[in-house]
Amino acid sequence: MAETDVLVIGGGPGGMSAALAAARTGAETMLVERYGCFGGVITQSMIGTLAWYRSNACTVDAGGIGVEFEQRAKAMGASLSIFLYEVVDTEVFKFIADQMIQAAGIIPVLHCMTVDVIMEGSTIKGVVTESKSGRQAILAKRVIDATGDADIAYRAGVPCLMDPKNKLEEVSVNFGCSGVDIDKFLNYTLSKPSSIADWGEDSGEKESGEFSTFLLEPFKKAREAGEIPDTSTRVQSYWGNFTDAGEVTSLNAIHMPDIDPTDVRDLTKAEIEGRQYVMWAVEALKKYTPGFEKARLRTMGASLGVRESRKIEGAYNITEDDVLHQAKFDDSIGIFPEFLDGNHIAVMPSTGRYFQVPYGIILPQKVENLLVAGRCVAGDKVSHAATRQMMCCTVTGQGAGVAAAVSLKDNVPCSRVNIAEVQKVLKKQGVRIA
Ligand SMILES: Cc1cc2nc3c(=O)[nH]c(=O)nc-3n(C[C@H](O)[C@H](O)[C@H](O)COP(=O)(O)OP(=O)(O)OC[C@H]3O[C@@H](n4cnc5c(N)ncnc54)[C@H](O)[C@@H]3O)c2cc1C
Repeated sequence: MAETDVLVIGGGPGGMSAALAAARTGAETMLVERYGCFGGVITQSMIGTLAWYRSNACTVDAGGIGVEFEQRAKAMGASLSIFLYEVVDTEVFKFIADQMIQAAGIIPVLHCMTVDVIMEGSTIKGVVTESKSGRQAILAKRVIDATGDADIAYRAGVPCLMDPKNKLEEVSVNFGCSGVDIDKFLNYTLSKPSSIADWGEDSGEKESGEFSTFLLEPFKKAREAGEIPDTSTRVQSYWGNFTDAGEVTSLNAIHMPDIDPTDVRDLTKAEIEGRQYVMWAVEALKKYTPGFEKARLRTMGASLGVRESRKIEGAYNITEDDVLHQAKFDDSIGIFPEFLDGNHIAVMPSTGRYFQVPYGIILPQKVENLLVAGRCVAGDKVSHAATRQMMCCTVTGQGAGVAAAVSLKDNVPCSRVNIAEVQKVLKKQGVRIA
């Protein structure tokens, strides 16, 4: 199909940031996505809360492209300001993504699944794609795997880790409703505000009393009444956004365990079961939630939302200790606050503490000229609860994009990139690295 300098596979927050950063550093860049829009979980699962941890003036983050996403949405009137963050309108974000990608001169390819790699020894030379155009190849001098599942790294022979499916984070079919009396709903939820400590097994050891958009009561009542079956699928909702048109656009309520996100039969099962749970959840909202009496289901996620699957083994694997004890690294490509959410641990970054994100976690073992970005970066189970967060995915993405472009300019492999130069470019692009 094409030859390019930098090829990014996967158009989520990690991949978009990687492509934008590479192009802005001067590399010819192509971005390939299997679905019909960019944005990944943002647009496919309607998650617009890129930085919901930012509830306190102490909280710091890296800035860079992640913050630019929020600012672009705000400038278009396509976000809701809550505390110190923006909830991005995930429909409009499809258009924002197109605009940013076009403005940077990136070559976009949608509806194109990457299915294999082209290797020369231990160096990646390109990928094989499947699309309506048939089976094609794209050759590239640098490849960035931002598929979430480390599809490319895995096929290229990078050692990868994945827990058995009963130990992975749950998957979700998200949904949105219209016809909601927003004032009534807000009065109801704010009259007995939830905190993170109410999350039950999700809140983990470090419970936080911080406000949370968490809704349990209607689903509990429906379960008790036998209207939602009592299975291992948890039904409890985080609601991300509402509009003055009577919409609650992001209900993150269906949490399904025991699904392998790299197994197509499991993915199919979860999509179908998830939609059944959505129907039950909407009935529960209508029956037991003030403001939802006349609500209608308007949207279901275009794709299942996946929180955890394969992770690469990197030149460095970030640890629980690093993310909880303000780790510092000479090869920092950005920072991320001490914020963890997932794998039964929740820590809110209300203290101003943060860790540095090392280049080593995006640099895979064994394969040259391949980098990864987003939730498949190298690290242990607890660190994943930080690195999977969208803002952290934009940090690893921006770092990967700049590193790919700098290594090309200097004609050295990714493993020998001049990290001081990468840091200089990142700073110029507005990223805080220390
Ligand atoms: C239900 C749910 C709620 C969440 N809530 C929050 C939240 O409130 N705040 C937060 O910060 N994080 C949240 N997260 C986590 C966060 O959204 C993800 O970890 C993050 O989006 C990962 O970014 P990514 O770019 O690595 O992957 P993704 O966003 O998954 O993007 C990967 C992209 O690659 C494409 N792709 C995959 N394989 C291929 C292939 N072989 N060929 C071509 N394209 C491919 C996919 O279609 C997708 O567009 C949530 C996650 C889920 C599932």
